[in-house]
Amino acid sequence: MSIFVYVEDWNGAYKKSSFEAVSYARIWANSLNTSVTALTSSVVSNPSVLGEYGADQVLTFEIAKTGFGLAQQLQALIQNASGVVISGTNFGKSVAPAFTALSSGALSSNTTSTPITISPLTVKRGAFSSKGIETIELSSEMPIICFVPNSIGVQEFPTACTVTETQAEGNDLLSVEEITIASGKIALPEADVVVSAGRGLKGPEHWGMIEALADVLGAATACSKPVSDIGWRPHNEHVGQTGIQVNPNLYIAIGISGAIQHLAGVSASKTIVVVNTDPEAPFFKAADYGIVGDAFQVVPKLVDTLRAFKADQ
Ligand SMILES: Cc1cc2nc3c(=O)[nH]c(=O)nc-3n(C[C@H](O)[C@H](O)[C@H](O)COP(=O)(O)OP(=O)(O)OC[C@H]3O[C@@H](n4cnc5c(N)ncnc54)[C@H](O)[C@@H]3O)c2cc1C
Repeated sequence: MSIFVYVEDWNGAYKKSSFEAVSYARIWANSLNTSVTALTSSVVSNPSVLGEYGADQVLTFEIAKTGFGLAQQLQALIQNASGVVISGTNFGKSVAPAFTALSSGALSSNTTSTPITISPLTVKRGAFSSKGIETIELSSEMPIICFVPNSIGVQEFPTACTVTETQAEGNDLLSVEEITIASGKIALPEADVVVSAGRGLKGPEHWGMIEALADVLGAATACSKPVSDIGWRPHNEHVGQTGIQVNPNLYIAIGISGAIQHLAGVSASKTIVVVNTDPEAPFFKAADYGIVGDAFQVVPKLVDTLRAFKADQ
């Protein structure tokens, strides 16, 4: 009875959360003294790399194009499982509920911990838009964990691993007509560092300093909802309850008040830095570091200091 893990790729390359998913499965499998079986796309050229993170065997197959099609394939391939792990990426979040319904399993979405107890199986998960944390018990023969990327971290468990090609049927009920990629940017859901700005920036013409800060930090840029609503920034940068949920190691919020709907999308960040003129801004309560100051003075100074620091390295 293996722990199965679906390992997502993007254009044939693994993401950081892909390796994290295998690490998660290994930790769970170790506590059950069982093996890890990874399921992944056959377009990836180096699936055996998953052995470094704890996979005993890797099954590759031509994956369906949609979450529902893939869920059907997973149902066909996953036999005799002690549990299933799926990374909570945008795609993973569409696969996990469909697979749960098809397999009559029990799903813990938004999971932020590895299993706390094994029998019964309990884990922690974010509740109420991640404003609370709850411990839940999964009482099903098919427990499915969909975890928040970057909540567990990538861990290495070097394991001898076999790779086998296989096939699985999946009927895509939707067809993908076109994919438009925001080019030249670091993908927001995957970013280690995010520089985000809000209405405090006064207008789109002031985003040059935000991009300069992101550039020097190797960060992705993001924004609050009203900023994308009024067209100062593209919608794919909108972070929050109704936008993208991010999980970086560092989130820098500039001129954003910290409304609960915004915090819902950033609360999984490891370290939060806030720059705001208003010392009473709610974001400061969620911040690890706060600068009470004018963004138009603080941000250029930060950029200059970081550039000078990097030049000295
Ligand atoms: C159903 C619903 C869903 C929502 N979903 C989201 C969501 O997903 N994401 C989201 O972001 N919002 C969401 N909102 C909106 C949310 O409630 C807030 O209105 C929004 O987050 C505020 O954006 P803001 O902080 O950029 O702007 P403001 O609230 O206007 O805050 C601007 C901040 O900038 C500061 N400031 C001003 N000048 C400067 C300066 N020179 N230097 C530094 N700081 C300065 C101000 O002190 C203030 O704190 C949602 C609302 C609803 C009702």
